Amino acid sequence: MALLAWYDANKRDMPWRKNTDWYRVWVSEIMLQQTRVATVIPYFERWMKAFPTVEALAEAGEEEVLAHWSGLGYYSRARNLHRAAKQVATSGVPERWSALPGIGPYTEAAIASISQNMPLAVVDGNVERVMSRLECIEEDVRGAGKKGIQVAANYWLDTNRPGDWNQAVMELGATVCKPAPVCHECPLQSECKAWAKGIQDRLPEKPTKRPPKEETVRFAFVRSELGVLLRKRGEGELLAGTWSLPDFDAIEAQTAYQVEPAGESTHERHVFTHRIWNMEIVPCRLVDASHAHVNGVRWWRGEPLGLSTAARKALKTQGCLEDS
Ligand code: SF4
Repeated sequence: MALLAWYDANKRDMPWRKNTDWYRVWVSEIMLQQTRVATVIPYFERWMKAFPTVEALAEAGEEEVLAHWSGLGYYSRARNLHRAAKQVATSGVPERWSALPGIGPYTEAAIASISQNMPLAVVDGNVERVMSRLECIEEDVRGAGKKGIQVAANYWLDTNRPGDWNQAVMELGATVCKPAPVCHECPLQSECKAWAKGIQDRLPEKPTKRPPKEETVRFAFVRSELGVLLRKRGEGELLAGTWSLPDFDAIEAQTAYQVEPAGESTHERHVFTHRIWNMEIVPCRLVDASHAHVNGVRWWRGEPLGLSTAARKALKTQGCLEDS
């Protein structure tokens, strides 16, 4: 098959492709959700050194797991991976990967096809683009055209090498059948219906996205001889489970410390998928250092910790972290 021959000759070198053990494929697929390959590679390599087996991950503490995820974003992925590893370490791999927390149809098809050679077709953004063009599906691929994309992906799947096939389609979408496609380099050109009609540039059809919501958030930056005051974000909050500066307007409720502003604020912006934080970081001093113990509050002196990217950016504005 032309696409598999193209893939064998052109596939990019990635650490999780060297050994397609299910644990490695699983970790890589979770890390790759919403995150670019180049960003994931060093995280993946450090992760495999720290947690080389599912048992090692299951035995690790949440703090340590989040510290290794720090900066990758979407921290619920790490917490779900950790929870799922504990289940697998005690009960073994379930019959359906999607029975585990954090694993949806895409990840299930990716792990099962790549590491277990099961004939399941994956559908992600790259596959949507390739299939909509190959089969000239003109409906919105997230709406009326969604089913057609899955049908096309199932139809095209090479059941002898399903894992390689899935990766080949995604690789084609990432490197050749890009939003601006390079059709003269494409091994599927002679079979592509959109190319035959000359409409490949306007596929896939997508709904117009709502712009992300902008909001202002104010953090308190309190430094004492003990370190910088941080709090762990709670369940139900954005970035739950990660460490962050306390909210300036709720610091007493969050940490039991009373503070007052002491100097010029710094500013930083952080863009999530659906929202934008305009962060104001207010330097503060303690009004009264005595306080009741509160869980999830600590003084931090630069040790490895599960800090979110937003928190790292905020700390940098106060000269607390090197550029990384
Ligand atoms: Fe994509 Fe062009 Fe190949 Fe069609 S011919 S699959 S549009 S790269």
